[in-house]
Amino acid sequence: MSLIVTGSVGIDSVETPTAKAMEVLGGSAIYFASAASFFTSVRLVAVVGEDCPQGFFDTFRKFDIDLEGLEQRKGSKTFRWHGKYHENMNDRDTIEVQPNVLEESQPPVPETWRNTEYVFLANTHPAGQLELREQFPDAKLVVADTMNLWIKTEHDLLMRVLGCIHGLVLNDSESEMLTGDRNVVIAGRKILEMGPRFVVIKKGEHGCVLVDKDHAISLPAFPAAEVNDPTGAGDSFAGGMMGHLAATGDLSIEAMRKAMAYGTVVASYNIEAFSLERMLTLDRAQIDARFGEFCSMLRIV
Ligand code: AMP
Repeated sequence: MSLIVTGSVGIDSVETPTAKAMEVLGGSAIYFASAASFFTSVRLVAVVGEDCPQGFFDTFRKFDIDLEGLEQRKGSKTFRWHGKYHENMNDRDTIEVQPNVLEESQPPVPETWRNTEYVFLANTHPAGQLELREQFPDAKLVVADTMNLWIKTEHDLLMRVLGCIHGLVLNDSESEMLTGDRNVVIAGRKILEMGPRFVVIKKGEHGCVLVDKDHAISLPAFPAAEVNDPTGAGDSFAGGMMGHLAATGDLSIEAMRKAMAYGTVVASYNIEAFSLERMLTLDRAQIDARFGEFCSMLRIV
């Protein structure tokens, strides 16, 4: 089934305690789209500026991503983000963010994409998320991501987004900021009252928890030995999860659990290298092999 994503595509500079990668391809939508493309073809709606390096477009074409909705806007500048990780690699500071073209009008959605059934609103300004959501009133599943910046600066708009989506994916510090509750199950239930049917709260190396009205399901992270750049872990988790759901069309709780496991596995690969470097060498067989290992690891009786 068809899957569409909107969010940021931009130029990232990332520093970890041991290495750095300056001016590389990044952005919430491209991490999501590359991850989901291992499961199903992905429609990308995004805008970059005139200064977007040509090499980025060559990278986009290496994945099963439909680029008809990717606009390169003349006279505009590409979104830029610079982040620096702390010693433990769980926390990071944003050194600089330049929204640039993300503050301008949204790129148009190709007419032939109007029947898309699965919609992911990757992290970007909630106004852009709302605009895309409204163009898919009959979508089967609409899931969004957000971040602390929007919780602080665009609370009312974000509440409107929450009121018209089926699922929310966010990390534990964001769920605490949104609800005032540190306990992820309680925070998850409070978020359900804001609109979504389910919420997935990610806890970095401590895994994730899905909360809906009947369940609280917890999965650990894949025990990764190689963590070189956590950037995009959340987006690639969401890509693996939504990619599996869209590929199967099954939204049962069992399918959700499996989708979370696929998301966990894809994210564990993404963090092995900077930017999309690991995604470029990844294939479905490697994903399935690690998925098998993850399932065996979780078998208790
Ligand atoms: P994650 O590590 O999953 O939080 O995603 C990191 C990606 O999000 C980076 O590639 C950034 O370019 C992108 N990003 C950071 N801040 C923003 C923002 N304010 N709006 C949209 N995308 C952002």
